[in-house]
Amino acid sequence: MEFNTKLLHGRAVTPYPNGATLPPIAQSNAFQYESFEQLEQVFAHKAMGFAYSRIGNPTVAAFEQRVAELEGGAGAVATSSGMAALSMALLCILSPGDEIIAGSGSYGGTIDLFGNLEKLGITTRFVHELTAAEIAPLITPRTRVIFGELISNPSLRVMDVAAVAELAHAHGLPLLVDSTTATPYLATSLALGADIVVHSSSKYISGSGDAISGIIVDGGKFPWNFSVHTALQGFEKYRKMAFLTRLRTDLWENFGGCLAPMNAFLGVVGLETLGLRMDRICENAAALAAALDRAGVSEVCHPSLPQHPAHDLCIRQFRGRGGGILTFRAGSRDRAAAILNRLEYAAIASNVGDVRTLVIHPASTIAMKNTEAQRQAAGIYDDTIRVSVGIEDPADLIKDFLQAVGGAD
Ligand SMILES: *Cc1c(COP(=O)(O)O)cnc(C)c1O
Repeated sequence: MEFNTKLLHGRAVTPYPNGATLPPIAQSNAFQYESFEQLEQVFAHKAMGFAYSRIGNPTVAAFEQRVAELEGGAGAVATSSGMAALSMALLCILSPGDEIIAGSGSYGGTIDLFGNLEKLGITTRFVHELTAAEIAPLITPRTRVIFGELISNPSLRVMDVAAVAELAHAHGLPLLVDSTTATPYLATSLALGADIVVHSSSKYISGSGDAISGIIVDGGKFPWNFSVHTALQGFEKYRKMAFLTRLRTDLWENFGGCLAPMNAFLGVVGLETLGLRMDRICENAAALAAALDRAGVSEVCHPSLPQHPAHDLCIRQFRGRGGGILTFRAGSRDRAAAILNRLEYAAIASNVGDVRTLVIHPASTIAMKNTEAQRQAAGIYDDTIRVSVGIEDPADLIKDFLQAVGGAD
């Protein structure tokens, strides 16, 4: 089954009550049972069923099953946001004293999260590009996980997942990836060798900018060494399923970052058109990037452009596509502001993966809390503009951007 067919006819698209084609929104905190014994069995995970929506909910389960199938994972846990997914995935693996190796071009919120983890005694060492050559020298006896974004937001650095996974596995380390900007349509990270994949499904998966949500998918294949990954101690008997089991039955349950049933439903609805939207979005982004580049706009960055260092890798790893985000430089902060204000169609808004085109000045918004050094390392300058390209007609978008960048200041 190809991707778009699987979205509608995959194993996870089960019949729902009363023949509904979409999962009903189970907007209920608790689920009642006929007897004391039945509820006891459900709580002990000895019987199928739901008890309380922080621990499990049928609409959320439907969303988890669909994403797990698309990613080819052993199971998934949905969370209240992409940041909750990242926090839970990292905390499930890490103990004080442990180290992470991550890309310096990662999403600003994730860089801030590494700062929070620092206060818990968990250190992050950064590489500019997530290549085996840059990562290998930073591996120490305390390294516990390698983390990277497939297409980093907004630095647009692309990770060769198979190559990084090979290095990680040679050192007994799991590769945790954030595939928010690639989506399971452009790449199935687990098949490429990653061990755990996280999404901010607020973005391309939900697709209309209508729900904050996140999800963690475990491949269930990593051979955990419990004397190294001490955070998973107590879950030895689950072996390769130790991460997913600890996540679901321990950490996620207790931190309380569950997904709301309504947002899970919106995730399911969005998912069904993911392939169609990504095709259109990626084509639009490539066309807009090429048009801006031809017009002489400074440092237009999109992986589809021949001058992008990951151009060939994208063809190999992402169905020849470069994702939906592009950046360029305006020349100054004031010019960036003027360009944003002159755009007619693009909304000035902090989000990506929406059906409508969105623009932002990252330095003054999403990367505002990062230090100047962190911003430089992430390729965010005072005049950088990020565009999250939508599904509008490309001719209209190109015309609008060309008038905005060409306007008198
Ligand atoms: C938006 C985003 C996140 C955070 O997701 P939220 O749903 O906003 O919490 C994490 N990683 C990437 C790459 C993102 O774009």
